[in-house]
Amino acid sequence: MKFSQTFIPTLREVPGDAVIASHRLMFRAGMIRKLANGLFAYLPLGLRSFRKVETIIREEMDAIGSLEIKPTVVVPGELWKESGRWTAMGDALLRVKNRLGADFVISPTAEEAFTSLVRDELNSYRQLPLSLYQINTKYRDEIRPRYGVMRGREFVMKDAYSFHTGDESLDEHYQAQGRAYRKIFKRCGLTVIPVKADSGAMGGSGSEEFMVESEIGDNTLLLCKACDYAANVEKAECKLDYSPRFTVELARGAVSSIPPLEKIDTPEVKTIAELCDFLETGPKNFIKTLIYKAVNVELDISAAPGCASLAKHKPSAAAPEVYDEAFFAVAIRGDLDVNETKLAAVLKASELMLAADSDVERITGAPVGFAGPVGLAAVPIILDNTVTGMNDAVTGALEKDKHYRHAAYGRDFTAWLTADVRTVKAGDRCPVCGGELYEKKGNELGHIFKLGYKYTRALNVNYLDENGKSHIPTMGCYGIGLDRTLASIIEEHHDDAGIIWPVSAAPYHVIIVPIKYQGAVLESCDAIAAELEKAGIEVLLDDRDERAGVKFNDADLMGIPWRIVAGDKNLAAGKVEIKRRGEAEAKLTGITAAAAEIAAAVKAELAASSR
Ligand code: ATP
Ligand code: MG
Repeated sequence: MKFSQTFIPTLREVPGDAVIASHRLMFRAGMIRKLANGLFAYLPLGLRSFRKVETIIREEMDAIGSLEIKPTVVVPGELWKESGRWTAMGDALLRVKNRLGADFVISPTAEEAFTSLVRDELNSYRQLPLSLYQINTKYRDEIRPRYGVMRGREFVMKDAYSFHTGDESLDEHYQAQGRAYRKIFKRCGLTVIPVKADSGAMGGSGSEEFMVESEIGDNTLLLCKACDYAANVEKAECKLDYSPRFTVELARGAVSSIPPLEKIDTPEVKTIAELCDFLETGPKNFIKTLIYKAVNVELDISAAPGCASLAKHKPSAAAPEVYDEAFFAVAIRGDLDVNETKLAAVLKASELMLAADSDVERITGAPVGFAGPVGLAAVPIILDNTVTGMNDAVTGALEKDKHYRHAAYGRDFTAWLTADVRTVKAGDRCPVCGGELYEKKGNELGHIFKLGYKYTRALNVNYLDENGKSHIPTMGCYGIGLDRTLASIIEEHHDDAGIIWPVSAAPYHVIIVPIKYQGAVLESCDAIAAELEKAGIEVLLDDRDERAGVKFNDADLMGIPWRIVAGDKNLAAGKVEIKRRGEAEAKLTGITAAAAEIAAAVKAELAASSR
């Protein structure tokens, strides 16, 4: 391809809103243009790289037996109402009406569409397992689109959905998807960190996210210094840092060593820090109690305090009942924070928020700041596991300006439920090996997920087993964002001058830069280009009438892996200059050897990345 015949509007200046390298470089290299906030058009150069990523993903999906289909992007709102996500998805869901007033959504993801498709076709267990995928446009009305195509409103996702007769079959495909993802990212030249991820609210039983380390990443990852444990903070666990000795003592009735519960005056002390000063103790001896409101609680709380008369609904005939809204008290050691995603997973709630002050006052009978588990009867109490290790604690006494001290778990208070809801932090101990955990910021490129029965049940999908008995299939879903993957490749592979594409995602493999595209130089360049193209190598020939410096800068900016420079002087000696982008030195090579050498190098790099 000749530069003059394509459309690559490179730029020297950087758009004002571009704060990350990939955004700046995709814009400057003429790969993308912005239409509106979160909406980007890919120009020819950008689309070529995009297609490379798409092909890699397609090949790896095909290789594990997932079948590509092409469903629609506009989907009937009815399906989303059936699954309950018409409302649960909130404002990220773009809803539209057609001329007859019927509701539609612009797909932000496609569990509903695929599940309904399978529902209509599935009869027998013989049709399972079935894995289908699409590579298709998604729209999410993100509150704050940013970082270019990293977080757009419209983007392309590969999303696969699989259907199975049981856990074993689901696990098998889930593992195959995980292996395919690792291969995809390797082929793209990306260093990804697979982490354990939250699967709670969706009702799933396993989930892994593929992260790239990134300063702008909005995920916190916890990694072990000693083993390969890695988890999103939304899922991360750690070893409990208390000795369970006292619980054993309590069980044996050996409570005499613990002083009796004592109510104390704590005038004008509200924060934990003030209280610790006042009582000359540390936050580790304090039980912090927070009142939460949870929405769409799937956990059975009918026997819990205060829950008998809560409003419930059934999303579908086959689905379990869901409590519309319920309040909970969550108690945790004073030096720790509650992780709301972990808590939501425990409650199987779709949404979670701190209760309003007025609700806290109603539930605890005291102003905000004096909640505690001792004597709290209005709502179910969830104790973080750390609290079950506290036998001489300070906590709110459900009365203004009063606290308890010497509060002991098992003696002065118990729980409706104990669970791990703490936010794990750097320095905590690995749950697997006890090693030290550290933190990284990550950006999510892909997510694989055992969904279980959530959608197949809500949408009433059934199949008959070999005895003619009806069952609901279990399901998995597997997504990768193409735009974000592409931008992440640039994040990992660039320098001050521009992009440094791995061959696998490069828009062209080789750029030929004639110092002046005329006469003998023109002829040689055309001949080399023809030679390379014959070998299956993708060539961009910079035939523009520009200064050599401008062409070199653009070649660096576009990041094309191999550059051939042809000028009169070298050609006279039968040579051209070849250089791998990212390497400092060019080398002189014979005209005929250049094409062969580069073709071999390109093929070797492609082979190595897909091994
Ligand atoms: P995030 O937490 O970053 O919003 P998500 O959890 O909403 O991501 P999924 O629903 O799992 O993402 O979607 C699968 C993939 O789609 C993501 O891993 C990401 O690569 C991509 N993706 C999601 N939202 C966007 C977006 N707004 N712009 C570009 N890609 C996106
Ligand atoms: Mg999102």
